[in-house]
This record gives sequence, C-alpha cells and structure tokens, in this order.
Amino acid sequence: MAATVIDGKAFAADVRGQVGEHVTRLKTDHGITPGLAVVLVGADPASEVYVAAKHKQTVEVGMNSFEHRLPADVSEEVLFDLIDKLNADDSVHGILCQFPVPDHLDERAVVARIDPSKDVDGLSVVNAGLLASGETGLVSCTPLGCLMLLRDQIGNMSGKNAVVIGRSNLFGKPMAQLLLQENCTVTIAHSRTSNLAEVCARADILVAAVGRAEMVQADWVKPGAVVIDVGITRTPHPDKPGKSKLLGDVDYAQVSAVAGAITPVPGGVGPMTIACLLANTITACCRANGLAEPEGLTA
Ligand code: NAP
Repeated sequence: MAATVIDGKAFAADVRGQVGEHVTRLKTDHGITPGLAVVLVGADPASEVYVAAKHKQTVEVGMNSFEHRLPADVSEEVLFDLIDKLNADDSVHGILCQFPVPDHLDERAVVARIDPSKDVDGLSVVNAGLLASGETGLVSCTPLGCLMLLRDQIGNMSGKNAVVIGRSNLFGKPMAQLLLQENCTVTIAHSRTSNLAEVCARADILVAAVGRAEMVQADWVKPGAVVIDVGITRTPHPDKPGKSKLLGDVDYAQVSAVAGAITPVPGGVGPMTIACLLANTITACCRANGLAEPEGLTA
C-alpha cells in the first residue's frame, strides 16, 4: 500500500494559524506584541530570500518584524553592539542572525552573543545543553518541526526504534535528543556508520538529514516505517531548462511504496522551519512576560 503523504505545507499553515491566535490573545489580553528581529549581514541571494520569507510570515501572524541589514564588511564590534541592543530591547522577543555570515565573522561567537532566552533558532550552546539535559530552553526550528509532524502522525513514540542520519548541531543532534525525550530508542548514523542500510532498516522512524540526493533506497526502509526527509539538494530541472528542482535524501518514488508515511520534498519538512521560528518567538515572548506557554508549539 502506498505511504501516507505527510503534508508539511498544510501542517505549517496550521501552526502559523495557532501562532496568530496566540498573538491576538497576547495583544488583546496583555497589550503585548511579540517581536522577531532578524539580522542580515551582506547580501547573499539565498539569505535574502529566506529573510524576506521570514519577514512576510512574521507580519502575517501579527508579530512585529524588525529587520537589520549590515554591510558585508561590518566589524564584529558593530554586529555585537547591535545584538546587545536587541538583547536589551523588551519589544524584541526573538533574535536570529541569518547564516552564513561573511568569513571574517565567527558564527559560533555570533550565536553566543544572543541572549539564550531570545535565541529562537535554538542554536546556542546554552539551548543545546538545556535540550541535552532535558530542561526547558528553545529548540532548533527544523527538528522541532519534525517532532511536531511525528507526534501528529504517530502519537505515542515510546519504545520505537528511531534512526537519524546526520549528526550536525543544527539538525541531527537536536533531533536525536527530541526523539530520546519521546522515549524512542535512538541511533545516530553518519558518514562513518558501518552497514548504514541495515541500521536504517531497523527503524520504525527514519529521519534523513544528509544532503545527498535520493540516498535512502527502498530496501533501507522497514515496511510501514515513518520516513522524514530533511535533505535538500538543488539539481537542474529535467524538463525545464534553466530551472532547478529540489530533491530530498530519500528516493521518494521507491520508498513511498514501502514506508507507512513519508514527507515529500518540497512540501514536507521545509515549510515547518519558519512556522517553528514563529512558534519559538511566541514561546520566548510568553516566558519573558511570565505567561503560560502555548500548548502544542513547544517540545
Ligand atoms: P551537515 O552539517 O552537512 O551534516 C550532514 C550530516 O550528514 C553529517 O553528520 C554527515 O556525517 C552526514 N553524512 C554525510 N554523508 C553521509 C553518508 N554518505 N552517509 C551517512 N551520513 C552522511 O548538514 P545539515 O545542516 O545537518 O543539513 C542536512 C541536510 O538537511 C541538508 O541537505 C540541508 O539543506 C537540509 N536541511 C533542511 C532544512 C529545512 O528547513 N528543510 C533545515 C536544515 C537542514 P559526518 O558528521 O560524519 O560528516
């Protein structure tokens, strides 16, 4: 039987709808408008697209969007001065610096400068440590989005075998921590993993975040498994000259004949990332004001 297609686009729209309802409540009941500040250094074309999408969706849910553009040759001192001001600004509840930044800036130092309670990308060492310790922090947006899709699809994940392919700080490690919190038995696979196909074939939940197009084959997948495809590879479009096509890490056509449920690329995990950025901003805003956190929008 063909796998259920997990519609991340529709799910993300639902998350944004819930965020919008919380924004309205915060405004009317407490006179608070949540605010997200995005810092863009330089003019990387892909970053421009992401920042524009973030701005549009932030405004659509009724939050304040503060965009700060700095020249590509900005000094660390000037960038840190801006971050310090945003850290101290009570109208700003979430801060993110769009990566990559130019080579003369250290991304880890930039993230470390952001107040962890406003680190809505969840990338700081403090938030990674809180997650690893099972304590409350802000969780990296894409893993949080995958968790929401999995909870919706599976419900109780206790005792399931979960395999995450990829061990980046951005995705693989936080995803594995979240699955552990759900009481899964978690394996993290990576480029040195032996017998990767066999390891994957034991998974009830298989999450692929590698960046190698269509690497995961049908015989790597346990029949009925839930497959979450995080990978994005841009390739020339076979039918449209000059256009590109996005491919995931999973051979979608073959794997969807075996899996129980699967996320497509595009339209699966991708739309969840900004939706979870907005969810994290609401969470940060509620915590900053001593208000109850929204249910269903946190880990
Ligand atoms: P990354 O930092 O490059 O990490 C890739 C991981 O894949 C590494 O842990 C690497 O192992 C592992 N790997 C590489 N080749 C492998 C192989 N042949 N077999 C098994 N594992 C292998 O990438 P990332 O930032 O985690 O992102 C991964 C993918 O997800 C990318 O395609 C990215 O574009 C996508 N992504 C999408 C979203 C979204 O919003 N949809 C968000 C984040 C990322 P080693 O550690 O051993 O090198």
